[in-house]
Amino acid sequence: MTNLILLGPPGAGKGTQARLLAETRGLTQLSTGDMLREARASGSAMGRKVAEVMDRGDLVTDDIVIGLIEERLAAPNGKGFIFDGFPRTLAQADALGALLDRLGLTLDAVIEMRVEDEALVRRISGRFSCGTCGEVYHDRTRPTRRPGVCDVCGSTDLRRRPDDNPEALRNRLLEYYKKTSPLIGYYHAKGKLASVDGLAGIEEVAAAIARILDRA
Ligand code: ADP
Ligand code: ADP
Ligand code: ZN
Repeated sequence: MTNLILLGPPGAGKGTQARLLAETRGLTQLSTGDMLREARASGSAMGRKVAEVMDRGDLVTDDIVIGLIEERLAAPNGKGFIFDGFPRTLAQADALGALLDRLGLTLDAVIEMRVEDEALVRRISGRFSCGTCGEVYHDRTRPTRRPGVCDVCGSTDLRRRPDDNPEALRNRLLEYYKKTSPLIGYYHAKGKLASVDGLAGIEEVAAAIARILDRA
């Protein structure tokens, strides 16, 4: 069993690498961003509550995302979990630690994906994804093979996120540096942290992550 956290600013490549790891290692991707977007799309009371917060690029309250993760961890999974975009605050990190303890699970690695701000802006402004299967693309670095058609599932429902605009991104970066980056020190102190150069190509980043997991 392998349980890992992918830690990094918006656009660092967490979702892209999480999907690859799910495919190559049979791990279950737990993306709180995806769960919150699903809640919005379903029109639930919680979804309506978080919509504005997400569009502004602010963080959603800890109890909501902790509750989402708690629900998913209760479903048994043999191979392990990839936490993608969670935890994002120290309170979330403490809650995750307590949850894993209670379930008798261990955290094997926290992988920090380092990407500088200018590159994040380029990544976010070119990002789009498949509304049917969730595959993540980029106008320049990872275009679809046929324009307008998802490589994986053939859907033509390709979408951009409402929060992938310069203003919301500025806010998301501020939130990251204020509230999430302290987790780097937190996990370093626990001896769990490893860092990869997130500026490298998708395959190279995947290889660096694989090396870390194979020695964890
Ligand atoms: P990114 O691609 O920027 O890393 P995500 O899809 O992970 O974005 O998250 C999108 C938005 O969902 C965040 O800006 C935030 O509003 C909300 N969100 C996702 N995960 C969390 C979390 N763990 N804690 C608080 N808010 C979250
Ligand atoms: P995050 O989940 O951390 O917000 P994503 O995985 O959604 O990041 O990646 C953000 C954008 O950058 C997407 O358009 C994706 O296709 C692209 N991307 C991801 N990894 C790389 C990489 N190593 N090099 C170039 N572009 C990348
Ligand atoms: Zn698709």
